[in-house]
Amino acid sequence: MKDMRYFPRAGLAELIAAIKESGYRVIGPRVEPGQGGLAYREIAGVEDLPRGLSDEQSPARYRLHPNGSQRYFAWANTSSAIKPFVFTPREKLWTVVRKEGRLHFEANHEVAKKTAVFGVRACDLAALALQDAHFLRGAHTDVFYRARREKLLLVAVNCSHAAETCFCASTGDGPEVSDGYDLLLDELDDGFLIRHGSTKGAMIMTDLVTQEASPEQISQACAQGELCRERQTRALPEASRLPGLMQRLESPLWDEVAERCLACGNCTAVCPSCFCHREFDSPLLNGKHSEHWRDADSCFSEDHSYLVGEVVRAHTRARYRQWMTHKLATWVEQYGRTGCTGCGRCITWCPAGIDFVDEANKLLSAEEEA
Ligand code: SF4
Ligand code: SF4
Repeated sequence: MKDMRYFPRAGLAELIAAIKESGYRVIGPRVEPGQGGLAYREIAGVEDLPRGLSDEQSPARYRLHPNGSQRYFAWANTSSAIKPFVFTPREKLWTVVRKEGRLHFEANHEVAKKTAVFGVRACDLAALALQDAHFLRGAHTDVFYRARREKLLLVAVNCSHAAETCFCASTGDGPEVSDGYDLLLDELDDGFLIRHGSTKGAMIMTDLVTQEASPEQISQACAQGELCRERQTRALPEASRLPGLMQRLESPLWDEVAERCLACGNCTAVCPSCFCHREFDSPLLNGKHSEHWRDADSCFSEDHSYLVGEVVRAHTRARYRQWMTHKLATWVEQYGRTGCTGCGRCITWCPAGIDFVDEANKLLSAEEEA
């Protein structure tokens, strides 16, 4: 494959060092203390990466197990994706101060940091493209998001391991990374294949000692991706059938799922493409100073559907229905594709073990149609 290079495992430390020397803070997968899972956190070097660990995921379950290998990326995904590094869960947008009888508005001028995210998966890059479609819409560009997005360096790693909850093959977003990266790695038993996808990535690669990748190494990487695809047992219904969910709005299945759903919003918090938020003012009691903030929100919260004096989606049935029909059906009208990239996080991190794929398949089953 064109421009594919190879470096031995020890070269990973050099790659991280080269990225840091270019002025980036490096975020990578780390074992989350006390929680037993992986999360993207700042890393000092390779010593912080999850070497020799694989994840086991199923509805309401995430566990890490030693796998007996020296690999750093033999897991499917982390609890959260790139989202918090561009769409910050909480941030101040502006401050207003009363001075000499006038109100003075001041935007939040916090400077975005150069941030490299290491170990990004195909499903998360696809979700980032969805977030871009929402926050970077021409005249409606979100300046806070844009400032952080422009400072991102994305080091993707092709998946070699699928969790039981993964279904990116059925959404067409993985397991192989196709675009949206600055650098792309394939982890092999003794080292890595690397290629660049941007000028920023190419600049970093110039500092790295690499050699031409052999045909055997390239075919090992392809075989890993193929195995990962074959191991995915879940699949969403075909994309052309998903708008059919809008013909199931009165199905009793929404009541069944609402019986189990806690309306906790975990699914929307971990979903890499969800972008709902709310804004609120936080005034001081002296009447002279007020701050305007934005928080990530969820369509499962009661306030989120408060409109002209009433809560429009008062019951969990309506909220779960909103989440699924927006994600899989009406999102297509807004953005030209569904809002799901098959990462499976909403299945793993739902405390009630509700399986998004299973529910969608039930709703679009032949019995329901009948
Ligand atoms: S809906 Fe679920 S599986 Fe799809 S992208 Fe969001 S969290 Fe991942
Ligand atoms: S589907 Fe699961 S994660 Fe989502 S709100 Fe309901 S209980 Fe919480």
